[in-house]
Amino acid sequence: MKLFDKRAASAAGITAAVWILMGISGIASAGGNAECSAREVLISVGEQLALEVSEMETEIAEDASDPYRDRPDIDTGDWMFILANPWNDIGDYTPELEYLEGQQFDARIIEPMEEMVSAARSEGLSVFLSSGYRSYATQTWLFNRKADEYGETIAATIVARPGTSEHQTGLCCDITDHYYEMKDASLENTQMYQWMSRHCDEYGFIVRFPKGKEDITGIIYEPWHFRYVGKEAAAYIMEHDLTLEEFLELYQ
Ligand SMILES: [Zn+2]
Repeated sequence: MKLFDKRAASAAGITAAVWILMGISGIASAGGNAECSAREVLISVGEQLALEVSEMETEIAEDASDPYRDRPDIDTGDWMFILANPWNDIGDYTPELEYLEGQQFDARIIEPMEEMVSAARSEGLSVFLSSGYRSYATQTWLFNRKADEYGETIAATIVARPGTSEHQTGLCCDITDHYYEMKDASLENTQMYQWMSRHCDEYGFIVRFPKGKEDITGIIYEPWHFRYVGKEAAAYIMEHDLTLEEFLELYQ
């Protein structure tokens, strides 16, 4: 929105400049032949500015039709935007880890995670941190175990291939209810999830695998899986019902 306003203001400024220059060129033309070249220069400058104004107006019109023009000013190269999915293999990426309630996380999200969990608990909700960081080695072991049983293709639909699980980033957590630890779609009916999905963005987290976006994320609906992206991005993503994939696409 700020950029839009700035452009509109500078377009108005240039329009004014064109009118002033046109006026000056009119005065110049009242003189003799000596002023002719000066007048031509001014007209050419005026025409150039008019062209720039029209280009800028086109740009503003394009901006206005972009529903995401108010997206936050973030750097998608920042650590909190690392993307691990079936199409983005992060290899053996390993963050600096720290423990919280028996789970490991990227040390940088311990504080927001603690804040979110304690806020939920102060509402009387029973929060259980079910699964945090998983290493490349653990993921390889999980995958191979399934592959031995069903073959690689089927295994890949059940367990993420090593290097493509978001749990390897250390930026996410499977959060369930102490009284409902099942990881299935009906978890969304728990008060815990209701609160979590409404407030997670205030702590920088998003519902990472929403319902109806399976084709984009490559992962089934998971009302238990929360991912850290920072407060600004989280607020935007949750407000616009985006996935991390769609959000990052806005910056391409
Ligand atoms: Zn998960």
